[in-house]
Order: sequence, then C-alpha cells, then structure tokens
Amino acid sequence: MDLYQSIRSLKDYPEEGITFRDINPLLKDPKAFQEALDQMVAKVKDIDFDHIVGVEARGFILGAAMAHELKCGFVPVRKPGKLVAEVIQKSYSLEYGQDSLEIQKDALDPGDKVLIVDDLIATGGTSKASKDLVEALGAQVVAFCYLIELKDLDGRKRVEPTPVYSVLQY
Ligand code: 5GP
Repeated sequence: MDLYQSIRSLKDYPEEGITFRDINPLLKDPKAFQEALDQMVAKVKDIDFDHIVGVEARGFILGAAMAHELKCGFVPVRKPGKLVAEVIQKSYSLEYGQDSLEIQKDALDPGDKVLIVDDLIATGGTSKASKDLVEALGAQVVAFCYLIELKDLDGRKRVEPTPVYSVLQY
C-alpha cells in the first residue's frame, strides 16, 4: 500500500514557500491508518522503553495508538496552559514561528526510558524541546519515531545522537 497517496500536500501553507503535509486523509482511511501504525511500531518494537511521549496534537493520535499496540504508558507534551498540576516549560523555534511546550513534573521518573512520537519532523525544534523536557525530569530519550520526515531540513541533526525513525520521507 502506497501511504504517500494518503498524504495531502498543501503548497504555500501556512506561509509562502512552505508545503504542508496534511495527514488527515491517512487518518480517515482505516487501512492507511493501520498500515502507518504497523510500520511505525515495526521500527521501534525491539527498542527498550517504558513510555511513549506524544507531542500535541497529532503526536497524541499516533503516539497513543502506538502505546496501546505496544502496551506501554503514554505521556503528553502539551502547548502552554493545557496541563494541570505542576509543569516545566521549554521554548523552541518552529519551521514557521516560535512556541513553547510543557510536561507535568511528575509525568516521568528519573531513569525512565522514553520513545518520543510525533507526526512529522521538520527543523527538529519541537523534537529537541520535547527531549529537553524529558531529560529535565531525569528520564532518557532512547529514540524518536515519526510518520513523516522532511529530509531537507535535517531535523535529526538537532537531536543527534539519539536515533530517529520515520516511515515516509520528503
Ligand atoms: P519542527 O519543530 O520539527 O520544525 O516541526 C515539527 C512540528 O510541527 C510537529 O509537531 C508537526 O506536527 C508540525 N509540523 C510542521 N510542519 C508540518 C507539516 O508540513 N505537516 C504536519 N502534519 N505537521 C507539521
């Protein structure tokens, strides 16, 4: 099954010169969604980790589904102001703009091993900020897993030497 056919490419969105890869057609198609998850799970199933950390918002969809399949816990990294209880925050730069992410202080324990999941890695700024949050709690990021990797932006460089796995590349 060609999963590339299930990704919609929007030229000049949200800014001129940027092509946005929309995963909603893939999520809507049960066969494509299942195949995408199967391929993501296959890439990480032999790695030792305790929790999946999913990044708001599309990382929740893929990360939670993977956690269910792999029978591990799920921890959300969210945009500011969404999480209750005590949080730590990290600012980062996006492919377009600036933002912050938060994690609950008691979400992970020192020594926990974590797989970070998101739909897409572009510049790697989101991934690096998520990794910094996990490490600030004393936990360890053992790998990253994405549905899509934008190769030209070389985001994996930002999180080296942690391994990066992706199913589709542009
Ligand atoms: P980065 O921080 O690596 O530059 O950007 C990745 C983050 O922005 C991810 O959380 C991802 O959801 C979002 N993102 C950036 N560009 C795209 C895109 O073209 N398609 C989708 N689906 N998400 C994107």
